[in-house]
Amino acid sequence: MEDTIFNENRKLRRQLDSLLRRARTNEQKQELFDSFGFEIISTNTPAQLRDYVLFQMQARFQLHDVVMSLIDFDYDMEKLFYGHDTDAKSLYESKLLILDAETDKEKIAGMSKFPVLGSDVLGQYDWMLSGLDDVESCKSAALLPLMRNNQLIGSLLLLSRDFNRYQTGIATTFLQKLSAMTAVAIENCLNQQRIKEIGYQDPLTQAYNRRYFDLRFTDEIERSLRRGDNLACMFLDVDFFKKVNDTYGHHVGDLVLTQLVGLIKEQVRACDVVARYGGEEFAVVLPGVSLERAVEIAERLRKAVEFDKRLTCGQGGLNVTVSIGLEVLSALKDKKQSAKIISEQLLQHADEALYVAKSSGRNKVVVFSGKNN
Ligand code: GH3
Ligand code: MG
Ligand code: MG
Repeated sequence: MEDTIFNENRKLRRQLDSLLRRARTNEQKQELFDSFGFEIISTNTPAQLRDYVLFQMQARFQLHDVVMSLIDFDYDMEKLFYGHDTDAKSLYESKLLILDAETDKEKIAGMSKFPVLGSDVLGQYDWMLSGLDDVESCKSAALLPLMRNNQLIGSLLLLSRDFNRYQTGIATTFLQKLSAMTAVAIENCLNQQRIKEIGYQDPLTQAYNRRYFDLRFTDEIERSLRRGDNLACMFLDVDFFKKVNDTYGHHVGDLVLTQLVGLIKEQVRACDVVARYGGEEFAVVLPGVSLERAVEIAERLRKAVEFDKRLTCGQGGLNVTVSIGLEVLSALKDKKQSAKIISEQLLQHADEALYVAKSSGRNKVVVFSGKNN
């Protein structure tokens, strides 16, 4: 009799211990999710958020991998998440899937608005895994919708090597809370970045403004020096622009500037920086471009402006032309100075070359030589 009571007691104690352990584990899990959720919410930039979600989350929750798919409603996510950082783009591309609201319609339509757990998720959403390494090791997954104001903005895919980690029937409260916080953080970071970008843009021409140019130029110089790459700096000024204004009015002058920027952007790569430096002066930075190539680009641009019909004012009117001054990083003698000083030298040289182009007839490309400048 005593033995039975004793055994019964032991059994109950074991059950109690196991319950206590489970409660403690849940509490720890809750703390882990909460603290991570708060960290995500306090990220300020899309770049920070991307690091948190795609790398920190993987490490903290011991996941095999994490993939975030986002619907690009405003066609600006690539710019907001990567800016000019091509290194980051190649690092994250396979884990951060930016979906085109139009062309990826089918994928988007197939994305669940409720959490889906299990090993079937891997097959069902195989397009999300296509860029990952070692997909065969994933044994279970959780697809969590990212919702804002009842609208699906994307999804988070958590991948585990453990078959039992994500299975149907497992409580999803923690995961739902985490994905809700992530969705808020995404919206917040993207909006903050959008506001910042507006502050970096010249409202008339949509070129970058001088403030942004100065920041970005030193960034590009630092990067080029680190990699041992060349970089070209172009200074461009509209010829006799005053005459455009005087003949056709300020409004036409404005239109010419806007169309000119459009044309410059068509002639250079997306990673090049086109900025309005002053009234009718523009600076263009071409990272990784040699002097020879820069001359070709500048010549092509000069001709494009000269012959572009959009830049012909009025009926059979004035033909707009530009003069261009050029300098490259490799031509500078002392590259040990700060990026700020190097940027000032490059600009000064390009400006002096521009002055030579102007004084020797305009509608020309001139490279800084140090002799005739
Ligand atoms: P040059 O070939 O020597 O460069 O001659 P220019 O007439 O282009 O140069 P100048 O510096 O004499 O005149 C520049 C003009 O650009 C004067 C200014 O009113 C005009 N300008 C500057 N910003 C704007 C703008 O935003 N819109 C318009 N329409 N005109 C502008
Ligand atoms: Mg001018
Ligand atoms: Mg000028």
